[in-house]
Amino acid sequence: MATERTLSIIKPDATRRNLTGRINALFEEAGLRIVAQKRIRLSDLQAGAFYEVHKERPFYASLVSSMTAGPVVVQVLEGEGAILKNRSVMGATDPKKAEPNTVRAQFAESIEANSVHGSDSPENAAAEIAFFFAGTEILP
Ligand code: GDP
Repeated sequence: MATERTLSIIKPDATRRNLTGRINALFEEAGLRIVAQKRIRLSDLQAGAFYEVHKERPFYASLVSSMTAGPVVVQVLEGEGAILKNRSVMGATDPKKAEPNTVRAQFAESIEANSVHGSDSPENAAAEIAFFFAGTEILP
């Protein structure tokens, strides 16, 4: 399997509860390397653009407001099959359906405040990484 990069976001519900380090430990224990990371506050415009694909969904406005409610940690994770590996460390979108020991099973508050985002395809990973990071900010 090839080395890949994926975009991860530790969401405001998790930064508020001081969970950044515990979540990062789960990534690192799974063999994912944090090759870029910054703590930022998303604007409405940024969060709206990032989740543009969900614009027609009934939860869009609420999702955008939950993503701007506090700081997020945006990161690039690198490793063998990083995109799928991260999705399996994260667990299912709905924490009630997430496998035990996944980030969402352990930490998510709800289907919306579910602690982490992770890219779901190579195309989305490339676009989402470029949304937040310049190439010079990524240090393997
Ligand atoms: P993900 O790839 O597992 O993050 O899931 P999606 O791409 O389907 O959804 C993006 C984000 O929208 C999720 O991580 C949740 O924060 C939120 N979301 C998804 N489904 C629902 C829902 O049914 N209700 C609400 N309130 N939020 C949702």
